[in-house]
Amino acid sequence: MDTAIRVLVVDDSNFYAQLVADTLSTDYDMETLTGNNAREGLDSLETSEVDCVVTDYQMPDLDGIEFLEAARERGFEQPFILLTGTGSEAVASEAVAAGVTHYFQKNEGDQQFEKLANQIDNAVEQRRTEKKYELLVDNSPDLIAQINADGEFVMANQSMADSFDATPEELAGKSVADLAPEDIAEKRLSVGREVIETGETRRFEDGYNGDYFHNVFVPVDLPGERATCQVIARNITDRKKAEIELKETVEKLEESNAQLEQFAYVASHDLQEPLRMVSSYMQLLERQYGDKLDEDAQEFIDYAVDGADRMKQMINDLLQYSRVDTRGGDFEQTDFESVLEQALDNLQVAIAESDAEITHDSLPTVVGDESQLAMLLQNLVSNAIKYCDEGPPRIHVTAERDGDEYVFAVSDNGIGISEDNLEEVFRIFGRLHGKDEYSGTGIGLAMCQKIVDRHGGTIRVESAPGEGSTFYFTLPVGGVEDE
Ligand code: ADP
Repeated sequence: MDTAIRVLVVDDSNFYAQLVADTLSTDYDMETLTGNNAREGLDSLETSEVDCVVTDYQMPDLDGIEFLEAARERGFEQPFILLTGTGSEAVASEAVAAGVTHYFQKNEGDQQFEKLANQIDNAVEQRRTEKKYELLVDNSPDLIAQINADGEFVMANQSMADSFDATPEELAGKSVADLAPEDIAEKRLSVGREVIETGETRRFEDGYNGDYFHNVFVPVDLPGERATCQVIARNITDRKKAEIELKETVEKLEESNAQLEQFAYVASHDLQEPLRMVSSYMQLLERQYGDKLDEDAQEFIDYAVDGADRMKQMINDLLQYSRVDTRGGDFEQTDFESVLEQALDNLQVAIAESDAEITHDSLPTVVGDESQLAMLLQNLVSNAIKYCDEGPPRIHVTAERDGDEYVFAVSDNGIGISEDNLEEVFRIFGRLHGKDEYSGTGIGLAMCQKIVDRHGGTIRVESAPGEGSTFYFTLPVGGVEDE
């Protein structure tokens, strides 16, 4: 419950002051103080907690309105209720202009004190509400102000004042144009005017002195007041800086990626020439001096030729790998069943030789690069055929929708992969077997990974030695190019 309202009653008639004070305290549970002139009133405001002042208008020395003005000058914000015996229009309008909260005529009959008590209640309640609002505004980390159509501050909270190294009082009456940098002030002023004219809220971002702001300009059009614009500016510097840093990092990353791709391309392209030289001179050596060399030398040459061939294969693979992103085709609606058909078509020989059985569930249409998706499936199926030791390979391809992506699975009954190597297999040239055991360079799965990456998906394998393997890859249902 609120505590009792503390009222200061000032009247040069000691009798009347006492009457009002006694009535308010006895009948309306208010705490009261009295004074007989403005000076005593001001002293009481200085020394005591007062919620509301009730003052006579006509007093020697300072009258009631002058008392109010003197109190305001000293920073007292309590509501003032003016008591008059006259009821003069002129006094009433002067009182309102000076900021008197209520205007009360003495001797209004029996009900006068009830009316006065009501007015005090209302005034104190209103002041409390205002105070709460002011506290809210003052303690807000957002910069809050009210500006008029001329761009002058009608009010500003502490945060707004801080941003201009001023106090809220110093800001009052100053123009935005005198404080903010020219271009910012111009923009804010024109938006402010527009908001006042159109009555429509505007939001925009701007910044100065290294700070960034998200601004909301709201029209304030209250009866009896010149229309103004409420400005709420939120300091978004941290967010903005993080955004800028992120953007810079992404740019750097893109640049280094592009450089890496360029490097892979150039290296693989330019290495081909010296390699060709090595292998052709080796062959020449063999042809021209073959009969003069002993068996060992012959064998060494074979190894060297073999090595060069293998390197050529790896360089070609690398070249192809580096082209997944740079030379990819457009994304189109692609029927995965026909993608599988293409892949199997290319594997006809391997399938026939191994007697592989390849089955599939119904496969969806996705958005993607058809030839790359065919390469992806071809790599997975050819591995499934290759890494199978016992009995004909049995391979099954499925697809299931999971939220906004499809999860594809290619499972086999092959040799399987140990848990330690489930990630290693996706590394460029990562192989678990010697070339004599199983042919290959180790680029296939790295390529699969890159193709799936480009399509905005992920790839992984579940497997155990002797248990077969299942390669899972996802593709977004909508098909997002990850660039
Ligand atoms: P490559 O087949 O040329 O070696 P990949 O990148 O396609 O290259 O595969 C990398 C390694 O992963 C293979 O050397 C093999 O050891 C292993 N691997 C791939 N697919 C399978 C599979 N279906 N079953 C068992 N091991 C596999």
